[in-house]
Amino acid sequence: MIQEAARRLKAGLCVAMPTETVYGLFCDSTNESALASVYAMKGRPSSNPLIAHVLDVAMAKRTTFGFDARAEKLAAKFWPGPLAMVLPRRPEIAAVGVGGRGTVAVRVPAHPVVLAVLQAFGGALSAPSANRSGKVSPTTPQHVAHEFSHIEDLLILDGGPCDIGIESTVLDLSRARPMVLRPGAIGEEDITPLIGPVVMPHLTKQDASPGTMAKHYAPSVVCEVVQSSALESKLAKHAGRAAVLAFANDEVAAPHIKIEMPIDAYEYAQRFYAALREADACEATAVLIVAPQERNGVWVAIHDRIRRAGA
Ligand code: AMP
Ligand code: MG
Repeated sequence: MIQEAARRLKAGLCVAMPTETVYGLFCDSTNESALASVYAMKGRPSSNPLIAHVLDVAMAKRTTFGFDARAEKLAAKFWPGPLAMVLPRRPEIAAVGVGGRGTVAVRVPAHPVVLAVLQAFGGALSAPSANRSGKVSPTTPQHVAHEFSHIEDLLILDGGPCDIGIESTVLDLSRARPMVLRPGAIGEEDITPLIGPVVMPHLTKQDASPGTMAKHYAPSVVCEVVQSSALESKLAKHAGRAAVLAFANDEVAAPHIKIEMPIDAYEYAQRFYAALREADACEATAVLIVAPQERNGVWVAIHDRIRRAGA
């Protein structure tokens, strides 16, 4: 399967593969038509850049310019792992795969399947998450098959459920002050001891207050974030049947459906997208997500994804 995946990638086809974060739709980072087909398959806006996955630091240096002491330190500590670093791009990396930008995000993923394919392929592989644009990211091969059931002959490598379950941290090292463009399992507190302060522009108080937000992963149902203390009255007022991502202590009475979420941050992240898919599948009239109380470490990234599920 690894050889078949490498063969297809060399032929300009795309292949769905697991990483430790989510499943991705991979193709040759230097092949314009292959990259264009990934955007087309996903219905992804052409301005939204893909992450280039590399085998090791040496390949990262063949993909970018300016892989400096900060990048070296971060790579030594976190690669393979869920940290993508944005750096100036080498011209071999096609502009269509980075939304025409002069930069590219690179990372070494920590999953034996994608690493084996990177080794067999011998070059950078760009990938977005293997879902249609705006939908929930896939964390199992079944999720990918469900997303692309209309596509014939898509090779999906099965690496089991993803360990981390939410997308990588994206750190922009191409600007004067490093900036976290997307929070992930590697947090600000992990990065600053190595390279000093980073800008965290995404941190807003939006998700601290409950409110109705239009759901973006499945247009038929509303997805809303609620505080635990407000859940009971919310459910009492809800005319239909809500699917609720809630904690053990939260009471969810019939006809509403409780999808119990773990209290451990890593387990919550791992479970989150599958839980959203389950909520979608029960044909509820609304999806409610009980806001976790904690806001540090991995919870920063989880709050970001919860906000986006309702955005
Ligand atoms: P996804 O493929 O869904 O994991 O999305 C990758 C995300 O990483 C993009 O939506 C951007 O937010 C970010 N990203 C990737 N490459 C770059 C880049 N060159 N510059 C800025 N942001 C990037
Ligand atoms: Mg995505």
